[in-house]
Amino acid sequence: MTTLTGDREVRLGVFDEWMGAWSPSTPRDQGELTAWQLDRAWSQAVTLGRGNPFYRDRLKLPTERDSGAFRTLGVTTKQDVVEDCAENPPYGSRTIAEAADIRMVVHTSGSSGQGMAVYALDSADLEAIVRTEAVGFLWAGIREGTRVLLTIPIGMTAAGLWYSAALRAIGANVFSVGPYPTERKVELLRQFQPEVVVGTPTYVQRLAVACEEAGFPPVSSSVKTLIVAGQAFSLPWVRAIEARWGATLYEQYGCTERAIAWTCPGGVIKGDSLGVLHFPPEAGYYEVIDPDSGEPVGPGETGELIITPFGADASPLVRYATGDRVRWIASGACSCGRPLAGIAAGEVERYDDMMKIRGVNVWPASFDQAVFAVETVSDYRGRVWVDDDGTERVEIRVEGVGHPNALAGAVSGSVHRATGLRVEVKIEPAGTLAREVPEGFVKIKRFQVEILR
Ligand SMILES: [Zn+2]
Repeated sequence: MTTLTGDREVRLGVFDEWMGAWSPSTPRDQGELTAWQLDRAWSQAVTLGRGNPFYRDRLKLPTERDSGAFRTLGVTTKQDVVEDCAENPPYGSRTIAEAADIRMVVHTSGSSGQGMAVYALDSADLEAIVRTEAVGFLWAGIREGTRVLLTIPIGMTAAGLWYSAALRAIGANVFSVGPYPTERKVELLRQFQPEVVVGTPTYVQRLAVACEEAGFPPVSSSVKTLIVAGQAFSLPWVRAIEARWGATLYEQYGCTERAIAWTCPGGVIKGDSLGVLHFPPEAGYYEVIDPDSGEPVGPGETGELIITPFGADASPLVRYATGDRVRWIASGACSCGRPLAGIAAGEVERYDDMMKIRGVNVWPASFDQAVFAVETVSDYRGRVWVDDDGTERVEIRVEGVGHPNALAGAVSGSVHRATGLRVEVKIEPAGTLAREVPEGFVKIKRFQVEILR
């Protein structure tokens, strides 16, 4: 238990580190916890189905109250929310909070090309999301006075605002360097000596390269903890980045719609593999379903993450379909022993990201696994395009150590074994790929598809 006091914008209270919980009444038994979450999701659905202008006609409430009946409620998609916000500006008909009660407004980045979804938060909602984000920062060892370099820009997207609010609520010293160029971030890293760096996986790597080029190897810096979000990665990549910084890597999964999951204490590597991102128990009711059948997947199987967030009363959602492909991990399966379910670390992908190459369905993570399985590789970028003869070509640009021909041969062999695809490999000088990473919280895709799917 950790008691957090002090004069803060959002008060946190007493943290139960084992459960990732803030209320002493949250059940500690996994069966009771699931029943409590489902019960809370139902009462939210019933309230919205009776009174909310957006959900009144959408939710057909059955008489049963089990998990199967909950699935009959159907899902809310990003398209639904975007259209509602466009038709009922600015916050959509779901949002019935009074303007004077709204404490924060966030929107999705619009990078999917579908348009932007807008979410308003009242003071209770803000407290709930700050507590949810604080769970993972506390699990990563951040406390009052911990120095944190936050490389994610703070604008209107959720990540920067929520991370910053949670870190400040804990009492960390936050350096919000997001808007500065990388060279300036390196200078501030030297000057402020942060113990923690927060960013995307590729940005943390870019910062490492920039430190090295400035004659300041990251392993010699004050940084002992890295926290990343927004991109898949593999075990060899984690080992390499941890060695490069001399730090332990933690991961957060999160979306603006409040599906949040965090690495437990000890970091993302558990034993010889990547661990689990646990769902904070008070954050919502989480489901992982087969997108074709709508039925729940079994432990260790992949499916779409569906969230019914709690503490999102100003802009409520019931069964929001995230479009994220995750691997479901049952509670108790993590080596930490916590009675909290979750998803496999490093593996979250967008369903939209699946590529069809020469008739073969391939996920970007399959390339990550195959390329990073060659341990001398430090980074790569892939590209699929159609040449003048109408042939689909796959090019992989790689950085790494060792003889270029040997490195190229190892990468093409590994990719061929994993995917069945023949690829062209080009070796790049060290630092080339990192310098191409833009500033900010950009969810970099290592693979670019230049053909229609
Ligand atoms: Zn765990």
